[in-house]
Amino acid sequence: MALVYFGGEFVDDTQALIPITTHALHYGTAVFEGIRSYGDGSSAALFRPHDHYERLLRNAAWLQMKPQWDSATLTDLTVELLRRNHFLDDRYIRPLIYKTSQTIGAGLPEGEALALITQPMPRGPVLRPAVTAAWSKWRRFPAAACPAGAKITGLYVNSSMAKADVLGRGFDQAVLLNMSGDVAEGYGANIFVAHGNRITTPPIEADILGGITRDSLLQFFGDQPDVSVSTDPVSPADLLRADEVFLCGTGMEILPIRAIEGRMIGDGTGHGPLLRRAADWYRRTVSGATAAPNDWLVPV
Ligand code: PMP
Repeated sequence: MALVYFGGEFVDDTQALIPITTHALHYGTAVFEGIRSYGDGSSAALFRPHDHYERLLRNAAWLQMKPQWDSATLTDLTVELLRRNHFLDDRYIRPLIYKTSQTIGAGLPEGEALALITQPMPRGPVLRPAVTAAWSKWRRFPAAACPAGAKITGLYVNSSMAKADVLGRGFDQAVLLNMSGDVAEGYGANIFVAHGNRITTPPIEADILGGITRDSLLQFFGDQPDVSVSTDPVSPADLLRADEVFLCGTGMEILPIRAIEGRMIGDGTGHGPLLRRAADWYRRTVSGATAAPNDWLVPV
């Protein structure tokens, strides 16, 4: 049992229940985030909570929500939740703002509530074992259909179906193409592609979700004098002839891809030089072993 933030207070998770008629449950009208805290048992810190909460609030605006919290308040509430639970381990925090209307019928009715829940998420090895990927048979939805960059719960049917598709065919991860046929991202992660010391990731215009991990890595690579980094459209062929391909996201951190549809990427280990540098830097940064920019780490 753990405390969660629900209905404006800290309550036992068994008490955090919503009525069956809740709008968000029927129409996918909720926004969410995935934030991580890294801790060693005696101290812990949240990684980039302000950026996650700014994104959450931007996405809430798409659903015409008028949240009463700002990113500072939401960060404070998250710290308080971890403190009250004495959670100083590696953790995943799931903030959710959902439409509470009990009226049946689509639309964007007024009224929303905030919930904060957490679950343990121990850090994996810095260099994660490389995995396989396949093209998802489902394309990433275009910005003309709905806000492509938003973490809106209803939109995650796309990710869920892409994941089920590739897992069902025996692969570990999906690469989703956008409606133009370019590479967009994974089902819950952004993608980086390296050819020698040139590294690129699809631009926001490729209908991706602008990941915070992607942003961190763009800053890291931008600081490396021997690496040229860009955000450019990536074709499926660019991916197949790359030396290195990896996914990145808050939950998965940095995940090397060793083959796509059975075709080997680079030397087939997935552990190329740019991935190794990025994974090492990322772990040191999130765990506070190396100085992070400004407000990236917020102590619990
Ligand atoms: N794309 C999608 C579809 C995602 O769900 C996520 C996870 N939030 C990402 C990319 C990576 O984003 P972030 O680095 O902010 O976790």
